Amino acid sequence: MAGPETGVFNVSGNQPVSEMKSCPQCGEKILAVAIKCRYCEQYLDGRQQNSGDDSSSMERMLLPVGRPVSAIAAGYCALLGIFPMCGLPFSIAALVCGIMARKEIKKNPKLSGTGRAIFGIIVGGLMIVAHLAIFAMVVISSLQQPVR
Ligand SMILES: [Zn+2]
Repeated sequence: MAGPETGVFNVSGNQPVSEMKSCPQCGEKILAVAIKCRYCEQYLDGRQQNSGDDSSSMERMLLPVGRPVSAIAAGYCALLGIFPMCGLPFSIAALVCGIMARKEIKKNPKLSGTGRAIFGIIVGGLMIVAHLAIFAMVVISSLQQPVR
């Protein structure tokens, strides 16, 4: 950002300075002809200032913005759930968080994170089965082999 004058768009450029109004957003005195408040950068014609919203999808992948926490948790828990022995609680958490995230995204379609949610549900679900299978095998083999 340069000076405070940038961000204020005059219609003609030589409006008298006396024509002022207060910004409905922050209450600061701004030019009556201003389209955008110079203090809070809020557009005054009802436009939404979401220039960063349509940024690259790469940025959305990296930044945990606009997605439910449950979706992020589902992603991480699914990864942690892959570990043998201690992974079962994480797998269950991934499945639960994934389902929660899917519900939250359905309620608010603006949110992203569906990929993580589905990842959590699928990987979490598969890992629960895998962990239970391993657990069952350990139990069965320990029952079949009498302790000497
Ligand atoms: Zn303002």
